[in-house]
Amino acid sequence: MLEPVKDDVSTPLFEPMADLHLHAVKSTNEEDLKAGTVTDSWVSSEYRGVSTEEFVDAKTKEGCSQDCLFDIIDNFHQADLPTVPHIIDALYHAVMDDNYPDVLTFLTIGTPSCFTMEETIRAMEAFQSDTITSAKISLKGDLFFSKQLTGLRSDIIPTAPLNLDHRMMAKNLETLTPAAEKYGYRPVVKLHPLLQQVHLGRIPDDVFKVLNEHGALLVTHTGVFQGGPCTLEDGILDIDASDPIHMEKHASKYSNIDILLSHMGTPDKVVERYWLNRNKVVRHLLNAIQLLLDHPNIYGDIGGLMYSAPTDGNYGEEKSETEVDFTSRSELAFDSIAMRLNDPVRYGEKGKLLFRDKIVHGSDFPVTSITELKKQMRVLGTLGKGESVRRIKNNMAHRAYKLARKR
Ligand SMILES: [Zn+2]
Repeated sequence: MLEPVKDDVSTPLFEPMADLHLHAVKSTNEEDLKAGTVTDSWVSSEYRGVSTEEFVDAKTKEGCSQDCLFDIIDNFHQADLPTVPHIIDALYHAVMDDNYPDVLTFLTIGTPSCFTMEETIRAMEAFQSDTITSAKISLKGDLFFSKQLTGLRSDIIPTAPLNLDHRMMAKNLETLTPAAEKYGYRPVVKLHPLLQQVHLGRIPDDVFKVLNEHGALLVTHTGVFQGGPCTLEDGILDIDASDPIHMEKHASKYSNIDILLSHMGTPDKVVERYWLNRNKVVRHLLNAIQLLLDHPNIYGDIGGLMYSAPTDGNYGEEKSETEVDFTSRSELAFDSIAMRLNDPVRYGEKGKLLFRDKIVHGSDFPVTSITELKKQMRVLGTLGKGESVRRIKNNMAHRAYKLARKR
């Protein structure tokens, strides 16, 4: 067992950091589910096809605490949840690593290859620390008490998938909202227009009404996949269905919800060129920026958009249209976001809020790697070289935490 965390719970040492974009995926195949293996092609090669056992062995060899890894796995087993390597890794860093978000949002879109809403709630419960009060007698004979946390210290935010039937949405939120609020979080609803076959502009108003009644945070993917153009079931082009601009009317009408635009429209020079050759100008990134500047309840995450400083290998080289490499394809977008961080927003008290205040941390993990994420957080924090992410005030991960808290 781990030693209890020594912090006095009554005085938090820091403002927690949150990641609002972690995919809680699992295998649909019984054997892989048991071993914890996930084989989806979009999962980072660090985790793809690796069983929990192999993963723990490798991490232990790297010098990670085996006790902590086993404790995380125990918590999952006790809650009857699958132990998936990337989820164990994110939790390991949440618990042990001062420069990694403490609070992880487990996103589900309701398909068999991700955790169910109920499983994300059980995951939340599995990681709640208890406090113990111990009494000690000092050398002088005085009795004093100290409060300590036991077990692992990290929060998981549960989520529900968006449902186009407002009655089903209401039913799910009747379960999710009290579960999240018990620990101070608001209900988070996840939408992936392409995987859920939902046109962002055609979501019934009644669904937003329900979200508004619950004060929900809607996390929606925006933009298209990189593999090539696809159409939704009823023949709608992906590029039209996933344009963030469709969120504008709902944000204006419902002030009790917040909308987080994941990937800021997935700006991608290969995709943009493809459509330009077909006389279509893709404005997803520009639309996302406009929405953040104009609407107090719209935010953006930069999941998958990587910093442009060269790292190693063939980073930054031109790629063919068939190659999928989000890092090199989105670097111009990262630069344009980084350059606009100090633009003032166009609402409220003049000059009070800046564009940077509307960017929150969402990692798109496990598409990305932990090392990339830390660099990205640092660059969009305050460029404090040598400073720990934790010490950068007001950075995106602290804002993500505030956005997830109950209003
Ligand atoms: Zn994602």
